[in-house]
Amino acid sequence: MFARNALLLRAVAAMGTALAALAIPCPASAQALAAKPADPDAKAAAVEARMTDAERLQLLNGLFPTLPPSPPDLIPAAGHVPGVPRLGVPDLNETDASLGVSNLGEIRNGDVATALPAGLALAASFDPELAYRTGAMIGSEARAKGFNVILAGGMNLTRNWYDGRNFEYLGEDPLLSGTMAGASVRGIQSRGVISTVKHFSLDSQESQSSLANVRISEAGHRESDLLAFEIAIEKGQPGAVMCAYNLVNDQYACANDHLLNGVLKHDWGYRGWVMSDWGAVHSIDSFNAGLDQESGWQLDTTHWFDAPLKAEIAAGRVTKTRVSDAVRRILRSIYAVGADLPRGNGTTDYNAHAAIARQEAAEGIVLLKNDGILPLAKTATSILVVGGYANAGVMSGWGSSQVRPVGGFAAQIPAGGNFDDWLLGSTQNLVPSSPLKALREALPQAKIGFESGYYPATAVARAAHSDIVVVFATRWQTEGMDASDLDLPQGQNALIAAIAKANPNVVVVLETGNPVQMPWLSSVKAVLEAWYPGQKGGEAIADVLTGAVNPSGRLPMTFPAEASQAPRSSVPGLGLPGDGPLPIDDFEGADVGYRWFAAKGITPAFAFGYGLSYTSFAHSAPAITGGRPITARLTVRNTGDRDGADVVQLYLVDAAGKPARRLAAFQRVELKAGQSREITLAVDSRLIASWESTRWHVRGGRYRFAIGTSAESLGKPVGLMLPDRYLAP
Ligand code: BGC
Repeated sequence: MFARNALLLRAVAAMGTALAALAIPCPASAQALAAKPADPDAKAAAVEARMTDAERLQLLNGLFPTLPPSPPDLIPAAGHVPGVPRLGVPDLNETDASLGVSNLGEIRNGDVATALPAGLALAASFDPELAYRTGAMIGSEARAKGFNVILAGGMNLTRNWYDGRNFEYLGEDPLLSGTMAGASVRGIQSRGVISTVKHFSLDSQESQSSLANVRISEAGHRESDLLAFEIAIEKGQPGAVMCAYNLVNDQYACANDHLLNGVLKHDWGYRGWVMSDWGAVHSIDSFNAGLDQESGWQLDTTHWFDAPLKAEIAAGRVTKTRVSDAVRRILRSIYAVGADLPRGNGTTDYNAHAAIARQEAAEGIVLLKNDGILPLAKTATSILVVGGYANAGVMSGWGSSQVRPVGGFAAQIPAGGNFDDWLLGSTQNLVPSSPLKALREALPQAKIGFESGYYPATAVARAAHSDIVVVFATRWQTEGMDASDLDLPQGQNALIAAIAKANPNVVVVLETGNPVQMPWLSSVKAVLEAWYPGQKGGEAIADVLTGAVNPSGRLPMTFPAEASQAPRSSVPGLGLPGDGPLPIDDFEGADVGYRWFAAKGITPAFAFGYGLSYTSFAHSAPAITGGRPITARLTVRNTGDRDGADVVQLYLVDAAGKPARRLAAFQRVELKAGQSREITLAVDSRLIASWESTRWHVRGGRYRFAIGTSAESLGKPVGLMLPDRYLAP
């Protein structure tokens, strides 16, 4: 990471703003995509057979377009792989795009895209259909900008609450992360653009990520992060998998024969290609270990897939069959997805896409506390908004996923700095969607004032003379740097506490990329977690505060009561100069997040799956039926007087006599006031099995399931007997 980051900084600086804005040709037409070959494997094999050795090797090497010796006409972005025009093999133009098409450091001058909320907001929606739509939106924008590979699908499970990139990912649960990532990838690829899933596997901290050596048991890994990837790959069929910076059990993830050849390609039968993360290749052994493509090779210490790979082939240590296999995997994904097909002419409808961004932000907001103050009464006449730059916009996270939003940033606050040069250029970027403005528009009868919070005593004095105070609290996070604690920074806790002393009607809106501690919780009336809510975040927050939208988000990660509840109380290696391997003993294994809390019998501040609504829901006892799959049938009813969405969550609580806690199935259900619906949830057997040596084992015995309004708040368990059974990996 360090090498990559330093070089990127230089590359971005060198480019300045000299590059012209890119021409934006148009989204794929359905007609063009219909021209995909019926058998992408056969086409890949036929094309590969006609290649010269030099053409084959060319496909295995990705350039970082802003560094020499890249030709000057490449699209400035994360990657470029030259194609083979005589055989119709397209160039691969790669961009980051987890949260929209990114443009870090305005590497493409003036190029904007729809800035979606943090991945955590998407996960909090528990809405795979929404994930598909946001994916399709990203895919069509990427394609219109000339990209045919996007480095999306970030889905490392939350193993610590400090990780600077958790905001990009999808939380702590394998089923939720895998389902949402899979749906998003399917959406992206429906637009003829290949998507990755990343970072394979266990890349759960930014501090010294290239030195972190995660040591985990096979069962622990298979039942957690690997299961998440397995589900995402099954559901999304991503064209590529990006291997991670870190080591897993003493081997770099990008040179890990067990992970790449064993688990991914053999056990799961994965047919796409493995690309490295940028600067993550450390030896030529990677190729035989299953890595198919060296990305951004200028960032590696050696250009491994050039002379060293040729030497290995010449020496017979790398076979021609292996080279053909790597090439065919890349070609197969191109043809399966339609990444080679022509693009039509057209423009991106940013207004339509903004509506998707608003829906995602609104569905992802989690109402954590409400002592009856929300939704804000239409009769409220004097409201004070404090802090969080709410007059200007909403917070976003920095790093390779950073999108330059439509309209540009509302503000960029210099933020960078630790020993990593790359971060010196980092900024806290505010996306131009002001919650203050949106609230004023939504509540025209109210007098709504603003205080920055810069002078706390002034804010407190004004708060005392307002009916209601809405405090916005932000915590910026970034790729390349972890948080050192769980606090709101820069005196925001003290500000909230002081305001809550002066006014009994305080609502706190959090814009954070991880859980934070809330020492003032008992003295405020309501708390909303809005994450980094994107291009229409201000409007979505106003929608929820005023009741135009009934909140329905549920926490995709546990919010602890205190830091000491975690398996480890800080990030290993935080702030230290990296100069040697950093062992991380993954003693929680598969007990990630809420499973850790259940196993240890500890109570968090807010559990996974928790979130309030302005209405209420009732669930009938589930009728569980064995068979394949196991199903749970139940009726869910909106018992309140407002329309709203419930997220029905089914948890495994007992597996053949052993206490368990696993999300076994979920479904988001929209219900009008008073309406009820019968739903059937299907349980994937792997979610109730344990991994034993080389396969899944559903031990014979009684299994009990419960409907929960969170992982901690469970209804009456219902059981069934299951026979002993093994499942193939
Ligand atoms: C990040 C990847 C990203 C790549 C290309 C790496 O540093 O870890 O997520 O796709 O850079 O920008």
